[in-house]
This record gives sequence, structure tokens and C-alpha cells, in this order.
Amino acid sequence: MAYKVRFVDYPEHYRRIWDEITGAIEECLSRGDLILREQTDRFESALAGFVGVKHAVGLNSGTDALFFSLKAAGIVPGDEVITVSHTFVATIAAIHYCGATPVLVDVGEDMNMDASQLEKSISSKTKAIIPVHLNGRVCDMKTVNAVADDHNLIVIEDAAQSLGAKFGGKNAGSFGLTSCFSFYPAKILGCAGDGGALLTNDDAIAEKARLLRDHGYRRSTGDILFYGYNSRIDNIQAAILDVKLKYLPDWIKRRREIAAMYHNGLKNLDTITLPPVPVPAGDYFDVFQNYVIRTQKRDRLFGFLQEKGIETLISWPTPTHHHPSLQLSHFRLPVTEKISKEVLSLPLYPEISDENIACVIETIKTFSW
Ligand SMILES: *Cc1c(COP(=O)(O)O)cnc(C)c1O
Repeated sequence: MAYKVRFVDYPEHYRRIWDEITGAIEECLSRGDLILREQTDRFESALAGFVGVKHAVGLNSGTDALFFSLKAAGIVPGDEVITVSHTFVATIAAIHYCGATPVLVDVGEDMNMDASQLEKSISSKTKAIIPVHLNGRVCDMKTVNAVADDHNLIVIEDAAQSLGAKFGGKNAGSFGLTSCFSFYPAKILGCAGDGGALLTNDDAIAEKARLLRDHGYRRSTGDILFYGYNSRIDNIQAAILDVKLKYLPDWIKRRREIAAMYHNGLKNLDTITLPPVPVPAGDYFDVFQNYVIRTQKRDRLFGFLQEKGIETLISWPTPTHHHPSLQLSHFRLPVTEKISKEVLSLPLYPEISDENIACVIETIKTFSW
């Protein structure tokens, strides 16, 4: 169907930065800069600088950033790794790829890991915790890191949805041994396909990740140090991301502005629960990768908005641990299970017009609750 308000608008996104993007692609093609060339180095330095960590390693996806983080940190079969079910399956898949056992904890009302549930999930086999900064909001990293310190556990941040977000003045991606970002097109910083990055302050981990992405091949000596993978970021994608990164602060500003508009427009409806309003000060600086409302009439509202030409998204209608194929159905996670029936993401991206935001708000108000 033809939507009046799209959930994302890639053509408009690229139209606005067309000359710079095509210029960057042209530079790569005309010079033959296709694999791990200076555009990749440039982007990696810029990204590391933006987050405030020492190293960024460009990869083919956020999924591999998670996988390589666990591998580089020495996670092996038999180890347990704690994360949440209320996340994209990739977070849990990365644990599975290492032969380790995922241990899932519930989330809190802000849809992020409920750090108060961590202690009871820790066993003698626990090696790592993967907090997921969902929807553009950082987890309570004070508590997560305190529990990790107490039990000598590694922390790997799944920051795929939170580039630019902060907690206690510190950037998402600067709390763990490593942090993982995704440049999937719909992410806050998206490329024209797939891409990701692993960030770390640890020299040895960064070196290991660079080897893992390139078949264990040490280019300086020609030695192959172990069986690795092919998971390099495409140089063209890195060149595109390098162009886009400098717009990110403006895009985040616009995302927060839209979130405030939704908040003001919808706050008087007691049938829906809204995300926290963006505030200039305080512990949380949210970047609104998604604007997720909650309502018990979710499925009807989703259908109603679709009929009215407004595209929304449900992440995720089935909790990850309820997919039988993943063999995680022994976990009981009441908040996760409740949330999956109530969440609805409204359109929020820098290019959306104020008129379209107003249209979404007005349409929601005409829904017969
Ligand atoms: C997008 C995403 C990933 C995976 O990233 P890809 O680049 O698609 O592999 C992992 N975790 C979360 C929370 C995500 O949103």
C-alpha cells in the first residue's frame, strides 16, 4: 500500500546529502579504493574519536562486532553470558556462535536490562554480560559495571541502537571492554547496506578483532595466525559513513526535537505510555533510535494507523526466547513478555516533516480507545 507517512525514508535521506555521498563513492571507484583503504582508516579514527575510545575496527555487521568481541575476550564453549531477550536476535546469536550458553534476564520499564536481576543469574560459569542500549537509551551502566566488577565479569556493550547516547555524561560505547555498533541502513548512523564496528580501549583486543575480520592474516608479515573470518567493512561503506558521521550531532538534535513533539502531542492520552521526554540535563541523554510507545490496544492501533497510511513497526511481537527454534523457552521473563504485546514504534527520523509528525499525533488521537 502507499503510505502517507513512512517509517523511514531512505530516498529523502540520501537526496539531502547526494553530492557528498556520490563524491565519496566516486573517489573510491576512480582510485580503486575498495578494501581496507584510507577511507576505512579515516572513518575508524573519526568514529573512535566521536565515542571517545582508542580503537574502532570496521566490520561487515554489528552481529560480527558482538561475535568478535566475545571471541577476542576469550569466551569458549561451556561459558555463560548474560544478556536480555528483549533485543534483536543477533545479540544472543553471537553468544551461540561461540558455543557459549546465553542466560537471559528481564528488562525494566525503560525496556533495558534490569540490572537488579543480574546477581541471581550469575553462576560459576558466568564470564560476561552484554547490556543492550535499546532504542537510543543507555542501560544503567553504573549498576551493570558494579555487578561485573564484583564478580570479575567482562562487559560487552551492544550499542547498535545508541550511537551518540550518553549515561552520566559518558558516551554509549565507552563503558565496556568492547562496544558494538551497527550501520544497518535504519540505524542512527546507517550505511548503504550492511556494516558494523567493534570499539575498544584495549590494544590487544583491537589487534585481535583486526585479525578476526581478515582471516587471521597479518598483512605486515604475511603470516596467518589462526583461522579467521571474512568480515571487513566495505571501503565504500566506510567512505559513506565518514561523510555521514559529521551530520550525526544535527540528526540527534532533530531526533530529540521530534521525540519532544510526540511527547507534547500525546502526553494527555492515558491509554498509552510514552518514553521519557528528552531533557537537557540528567543521567540520560537519549538519541531516540526508536520512539516506542506502549498500549494494551497495540494490535488494533497498529492496524488503524496502517489503514490511515501511517507505517509503524513492532519490535518485537514475539519475545526472542519464545521462538522454539532457539531453545530458550525455559526462561520466564514477565516484563519482556508483557512489553512484546504492547510496544509500537512510531516514525522518527531526521527527515520526517513537522506536518507528518502532527499527522501521526492527530491520527492517534482519533483512534477509538
Ligand atoms: C541492529 C542490531 C544488531 C545487529 O546489527 P547488524 O549490523 O544488523 O548485524 C545487534 N543488536 C541490536 C540491538 C541491533 O539493533
